[in-house]
Amino acid sequence: MIDIDGSEGEGGGQVLRTSLALSIVTGKPFRIFNIRARRKNPGLQRQHLAAVKAAREICGGGVQGAEPGSKILVFGPGPVRAGDYTFDVGSAGSASLVLQTILPPLLLASGTSRVSIGGGTHNPMAPPFDFLARAFLPVLRLMGADAAVSVDRHGFYPAGGGRLAAQIRPWANPGRLSLTSRPQPVWWTNALLCRLENHIGVREIGVARAALEIPRQRAVLRRVDADCPGNVIMIYADCGTHMEVFTSIGQRGVSAERVAQQVVDQALAWQQTGAPVGEHLADQLLVPMALGAGGSFVTGPVSGHTQTNIATIRRFVDAKIEVERLDGQRNRISVNS
Ligand code: AMP
Repeated sequence: MIDIDGSEGEGGGQVLRTSLALSIVTGKPFRIFNIRARRKNPGLQRQHLAAVKAAREICGGGVQGAEPGSKILVFGPGPVRAGDYTFDVGSAGSASLVLQTILPPLLLASGTSRVSIGGGTHNPMAPPFDFLARAFLPVLRLMGADAAVSVDRHGFYPAGGGRLAAQIRPWANPGRLSLTSRPQPVWWTNALLCRLENHIGVREIGVARAALEIPRQRAVLRRVDADCPGNVIMIYADCGTHMEVFTSIGQRGVSAERVAQQVVDQALAWQQTGAPVGEHLADQLLVPMALGAGGSFVTGPVSGHTQTNIATIRRFVDAKIEVERLDGQRNRISVNS
């Protein structure tokens, strides 16, 4: 039984999700205590319970402590089973983070899986759908893994009601990842609006276009339907090899200009590092790299999420993960190479 202290490092939900994924893949049971101890609302929230339930369902495993607010969980995995699954967060909690939990084991299953997950599709502090579709999964494809997502319905806070669909094929030939340099990116911007006035998206796009000199034809305003109003402004950096996606979620009481400035700041900070891989992609690539053929990438400052994910991965698999400081801005992270 592997004992995980959920308060270590970043102390958030990722410790739990990575543990669930790697427990299924390795067949090693674990006990986690102090779950999400460093969060404002510690313990298992709906989104985490949905991830636990999804993990249990894809492997027929056993679970103790899967109750709202629980700070301790014991998980005993069974063998992963490909199949057609439907999961629901039951709130506006992130559907992407449920997918993040079950994707690694399902990639290593012997057949194709189709997964439908209800919840939020664009949440703060979670990978928005567009990040999964345009940044994360395409890099997995560079590693030979074939998973695709679509959005059946958008879901925003507080109503949720969104739905993601994923198709995950067996990962037959894992390849090494190498993302160590990048050319000057081609920038795009995309604003989503649901039940809000167009001028909000127009102003956000104006801020993004001015800051990054994005021509009109690479700026898109999309109206979508959902159970409650919602607004997201995204900036895509197309590097040829891969894409980075930066996101800011509109909030009541925060001006469109401020919402857009937040995403511009993220994009400029990444641009300034010169590194191909941004903060979020960096922590999310580690599990698939440790399970596949490894490789290396260059990223900016190493985040708490990345450090914590490295520590959690090491508890389950014998992966050699090295972080090498290249200069004040950039780090090379190598996995099994
Ligand atoms: P945790 O805070 O432990 O629940 O983990 C949050 C996860 O969501 C991490 O894998 C983050 O990299 C990811 N994440 C947070 N914000 C974003 C974002 N804007 N784009 C992509 N991924 C994100």
